[in-house]
Amino acid sequence: MEKHKLYIDGQWVEAEEYQELRSPYNQEPVAQIPLANKNHVEQAIKSAQKATKMMKSLSAAERSEILEKVSQIISERKEECALILATENAKPLKAARAEIARTIETYKFAAEEAKRLHGETVPLDAAKGGKNRFGYVKKEPLGVIAAITPFNFPFNLTAHKLGPAFAAGNTVVLKPASQTPLSGFMTAKIFEEAGLPAGALNVVTGRGGVIGDLLVTDPRIKMVTFTGSVPVGLGIKEKAGLKRVTLELGSNAGVIVEDAEDLDAVAARCVEGSFNFSGQVCISVQRIFVNENLFDAFIAKMTTHANNLVIGDPKSDDTDISALINPGETDRIESWIKEAENSGATVAYGGKRVGSAFEPTIIVNGGKNLSISCNEVFGPIVVVNPYKTWDEAIHLVNDSEYGLQAGVYTTNLQKAFDAVERLEVGGVIINDIPSFRVDNMPYGGVKNSGIGKEGIKYSVEEMTESKFVSFKL
Ligand code: NAP
Repeated sequence: MEKHKLYIDGQWVEAEEYQELRSPYNQEPVAQIPLANKNHVEQAIKSAQKATKMMKSLSAAERSEILEKVSQIISERKEECALILATENAKPLKAARAEIARTIETYKFAAEEAKRLHGETVPLDAAKGGKNRFGYVKKEPLGVIAAITPFNFPFNLTAHKLGPAFAAGNTVVLKPASQTPLSGFMTAKIFEEAGLPAGALNVVTGRGGVIGDLLVTDPRIKMVTFTGSVPVGLGIKEKAGLKRVTLELGSNAGVIVEDAEDLDAVAARCVEGSFNFSGQVCISVQRIFVNENLFDAFIAKMTTHANNLVIGDPKSDDTDISALINPGETDRIESWIKEAENSGATVAYGGKRVGSAFEPTIIVNGGKNLSISCNEVFGPIVVVNPYKTWDEAIHLVNDSEYGLQAGVYTTNLQKAFDAVERLEVGGVIINDIPSFRVDNMPYGGVKNSGIGKEGIKYSVEEMTESKFVSFKL
C-alpha cells in the first residue's frame, strides 16, 4: 500500500501522522495518506508566498504553456486518472472517464484564458478634472490562493481552481477532500512534470477543520476558493475577514416539465441527471415538477429508464451506480425515505440499499417540507410531483433555500423567457436538465448555493485585482 507524501515547495514531504484511505465500495485499504500539521501548513503558505514573485514574472505565454502541458499529460494518462477516481470515490468508470475528459478541456480553457488577461483604458478626459490624463486598468494576480475542494469531482473541480489561479499568475495551497487525496497528489505530479515553478502549488492533506482554519485565517492568503457544503462554506465566510471568498455550495435542483416533443427523451435525461454518480453532484436533479397531464406517462418512462441502470463495482465498465461516499450516507438516505413514506409519499421505483450502494429511487407526491425535498439529498433520490398551472411550477422551483441551476422543458418560447425572468437561480437551462454544465460557462449559485462564479474566464476575474493607473501628460 503506497504511503503518500505532502507536496510543499516542490518537494515531497513525509508527515508525522498518517491515515488509511479506504475504498468506499468495499472498504479495502487503498493508501496511507499524510495528515498535515500546523507546521506543514505554515511551510506550504510560506512557499506559496515566496513563489508569488516567480509566478508574477512568468509571461502569459509561459503560463499558458504550462497549463497546455498539464492538459496534454492528463490526456496521455486519462485511464490512470479515471482509475484513481474509481478507487478513491467509487466513481463508476463511465462517469470517471467523463470527468477526466472535462478536466482535460478545463485546463485547455485555462491555457487559452492565460493569454486573454487584459484590462482596459479609461477615458479620464470625459471628467471635467481629467483633461490631459491617460488612464488604464491592469489586471494583477492576487498572490496566494487557498483552494479547498470536495470529494465529488476531485480532478475537474480542482482544475476549476488551479487552472484560473495559474492562468492569472497566482500561487496555490490546495486542500483536497479527505476521501479524495489521490487525485490531488496526481494533479501535483502532473503540474511538476509540466514545469510549474516550485512552490507555486502546494498540496496539504488531512483534517478539513484543522487545515481549513489555518488557511482561512492566515493573512498571507489573499483568497479562499471553496467548493463544498453550506455549513463549511458559512464557517469559511465568517472566518475569512477581508479576504476574497468564492463559495460553490449545494443545491436541490429543480426541473419543470411543461411539455416536450419527445417525453421519453426528457425522462431518460432526467434519469441521467438524477442518478449520475449516485446523485452526489451539486446540480443533480432532485425535484421534478411535471404538468399533471403528462405526469403518469412521465413516471412510467422514468421507471423504465431507471430500471436499465446497472449497480455494481465502480471499476466495471458496465456500472452506472456504485457505493455512496461512506456508509453513514446510506443510513441517512434510508431514514429520509422512511420519513417520506410515513408522510404519505410513494416510492415508485427503488428505495433500498444494495451493499454500499443505494438503488436509484423515484419518489412521487413528496411534500415540500420533507428532508428529501427541502434539503440537499446528495444521493440517488429524485422527487417527482405534478402541478396544475405554470405559475405554480415556477413557484415550486423557487420554493427552496438553494438556487444553483434550474431546468425547464417547454416548447413555448414565451414560457421559456418567462422562466428565465422569474427563476431565482444562477443558471436557467432551457430544454435540458439543471445538471448541464460545460467548463467555460459561468457557474455559481444564488441564495444558499453560494457566492461568486466559476467557469475559467469568470474565475480569472475573481482571482485578479484591478489596478488603476493614471498618467498626467
Ligand atoms: P464538505 O464536507 O463541505 O467538504 C469540502 C471540503 O472542505 C473538504 O476538503 C473538507 O475537508 C473541507 N473542510 C471541512 N471542514 C472544513 C473547515 N472547517 N474549514 C475549511 N475546510 C473544511 O463537502 P463534501 O462532502 O466534500 O462535498 C459535497 C458538497 O459539495 C455538497 O454540498 C455539494 O453540493 C457541494 N458541491 C458544490 C459544487 C458547486 O460547484 N456548487 C460542486 C461540487 C460539490 P475534509 O474532507 O478533510 O473534511
